[in-house]
Amino acid sequence: MKIGVLALQGDFREHLEAVKVAGHAALSVKTLDELNEVDALIIPGGESTTIVHLAKTFGLFKPLREKIKNGMPTYGSCAGMILLADKISNPAPGQETLGGLDIVVRRNAFGRQVDSFETELDFAGSNMNAVFIRAPWVESIGKDVEVLASVKASDGQVHPVAVRQGGLLATSFHPELTNDLRVHSYFFDEICQGAIK
Ligand code: GLN
Repeated sequence: MKIGVLALQGDFREHLEAVKVAGHAALSVKTLDELNEVDALIIPGGESTTIVHLAKTFGLFKPLREKIKNGMPTYGSCAGMILLADKISNPAPGQETLGGLDIVVRRNAFGRQVDSFETELDFAGSNMNAVFIRAPWVESIGKDVEVLASVKASDGQVHPVAVRQGGLLATSFHPELTNDLRVHSYFFDEICQGAIK
């Protein structure tokens, strides 16, 4: 499988490394030609408004939207989750998303005093340490969306932080910043293998 990592801004290098360590071909995607070469895509963490701005500048925004709509397996971490969400509850003025995932996300949801934190959580049946950096949470989900992990936040509520809908996977946290490749493996084994012939 050729796994692309959108390499416009953010921690794409860490995702490229994770793809390689997992034994797949890793391609950085900055152009339409590169996008057309890959079987699946990872959208990294970073700043969602900047990634959208650059995707438009590089002529990738509409092609990305189309590919995601047409079933290209895609995993978004943090800013990548925001990009895959159909709706942002607190967008920056004019902020658009690529969409595809029937969820509403809240940007920077975990509040200022805990901008960044680590916590143990259960992801699809595995216990893991998860790193959150100015992370979004999922505020609501459509009926076809499966919740793979949730955390209790300081508002006392439990919020989904990992979701899947068909070929799309999104996490609020950054598994690319740990040595734990289980989220990446889940994407490659449970989502990409079935979708890519
Ligand atoms: N808060 C960032 C955004 O809105 C996401 C943070 C991250 O990807 N670490 O894009």
